[in-house]
Amino acid sequence: MSELLPNYVAGRWQAGTGPGTPLLDPVLGTELARVSSAGLDLEAAYAHAREQGGAALRALTYAQRAGLLAAVADVLKANRDRYFDIALANSGTTRRDSAVDIDGALFTLGQYARWGAALGDARWMVDGEAVPLAKDGSFRSRHVLVPTRGLALFINAFNFPAWGLWEKAAPALLSGVPVIAKPATATAWLAQAMVADVIAAGVLPSGALSIVCGSAQGLLSPLQPFDVVSFTGSADTAATIRSHDAVVRRSVRVNIEADSLNSALLLPDAQPGSPAFDLLVDEVVREMTVKSGQKCTAIRRVFVPAASYAAAGQAIAARLAQVTVGNPRNEAVRMGALASRQQWESVRAGIAELRRHAEVLHDGAATPLVDADPAVAACVGPTLLGAADGTASAVHDVEVFGPVATLLPYGDLPDAMRQVRLGQGSLVASLYTGDAGLAARTALDLADSHGRLHVVTPEVGATHSGHGNVMPMSLHGGPGRAGGGEELGGLRALQFYHRRAAIQGAGAVLDGLNPSGGA
Ligand code: NAP
Repeated sequence: MSELLPNYVAGRWQAGTGPGTPLLDPVLGTELARVSSAGLDLEAAYAHAREQGGAALRALTYAQRAGLLAAVADVLKANRDRYFDIALANSGTTRRDSAVDIDGALFTLGQYARWGAALGDARWMVDGEAVPLAKDGSFRSRHVLVPTRGLALFINAFNFPAWGLWEKAAPALLSGVPVIAKPATATAWLAQAMVADVIAAGVLPSGALSIVCGSAQGLLSPLQPFDVVSFTGSADTAATIRSHDAVVRRSVRVNIEADSLNSALLLPDAQPGSPAFDLLVDEVVREMTVKSGQKCTAIRRVFVPAASYAAAGQAIAARLAQVTVGNPRNEAVRMGALASRQQWESVRAGIAELRRHAEVLHDGAATPLVDADPAVAACVGPTLLGAADGTASAVHDVEVFGPVATLLPYGDLPDAMRQVRLGQGSLVASLYTGDAGLAARTALDLADSHGRLHVVTPEVGATHSGHGNVMPMSLHGGPGRAGGGEELGGLRALQFYHRRAAIQGAGAVLDGLNPSGGA
């Protein structure tokens, strides 16, 4: 039997009971390790995090906590090569796709370390100016943001075991809030290995960082009112979390990043063969194939003017036909596996469902796999569907979490806006046009229903950051179906881990509030 990866809670490594759940290589089908969270004393674990980790972190200034993030990043950089080996084995990703996760994590940690250093020797933040409450100005109110005295529980999805952990942990630790990480079981090895390296290096105070690998059972029950939960995953699990007693009765703050039918939109000015048209084709192909389409931000719906539908379908399909799929150990392979055979089944079922409402413009199932056994490997070729009549609600509703997108024609721009909105709130939409003014107006029109609008005009064709790339400077999250969450966006992310309070008093009292003093 393979190694049972231990959990790190209450300041020590602890094995779960029972045989555990196997982690598999999604290409070869071999067992790599096992995880179990059974039998852990989570009450004690959470108490240790709050009392030891939280107190130690809050005693530090933002700049000192930023120093911890830099030290964490250094530890991870020193072990970077091994993380690529783990990602290859446990996520079945090519080196380029593993880098999106691993280097994305390092980049995000580095950014928060820099931003945190600039916050200096403060331990809490002021929020706005003091305002008078008494007519003569003698009695005033000032808002403060202080770190919550609870813990941050992170429940993550399988697609970003590295970035998913650190994009949440960086702002939490910088805020002075200890972290309990629960990676998705299927790909937990990478997150566990990273935490193990950080713990072994001794760069964080005891209780600042813990990890639980295996079932999520019982994770929410010990939560207390000042704890927070940040969840990334499916809408169904999100609903379970939202209705838990800890949230409903104890007001535990929750951030939800769920699924999303993200759009790419070719604006009416862009004809086939124009630079904007070509940029849309590039981006759709990239989004469908990076990480085998297993990105919450990936393009799922592609809107083009009706007159360009055939040309867009042909151009995207021609590019997809060149994508080699299979074992990422083979250098000829451009797209590796899905995270598990279970995901493979779910993606195939999703394609079958969409095919009932759409035509197939490029059939990934017809692509022979390179160096991989189709009976074992969780590999699936990229599939472009097209819904020429545009009325099928399933294409606006069913998220197939793989290399799958649907091309949709629109009549005029209001029709395009209406169809984009059928997604019921998304993480991101990208716009392709040569007309900067039209782009600005359209982006603003969609801003209420999207977390991010990514505008690609020819002048940024070579420099834009990518439709699906989540940059720490910009907001990540989206309203409605996307979960209603907000992450990243620079220092905005710190607000989730702080409590806002109004302090009312005489000028002398408010003037005595010093962010460099204790919180
Ligand atoms: P999932 O099944 O909801 O699992 C997500 C996490 O929740 C896993 O760690 C899972 O643990 C845990 N979990 C399962 N049942 C739970 C429960 N009853 N209480 C608490 N936690 C529980 O989602 P997934 O299949 O891993 O991820 C794919 C989905 O995530 C897609 O729909 C995708 O769009 C979405 N996603 C969204 C974002 C975003 O930022 N918006 C990013 C990535 C993915 P186990 O693994 O142990 O079951």
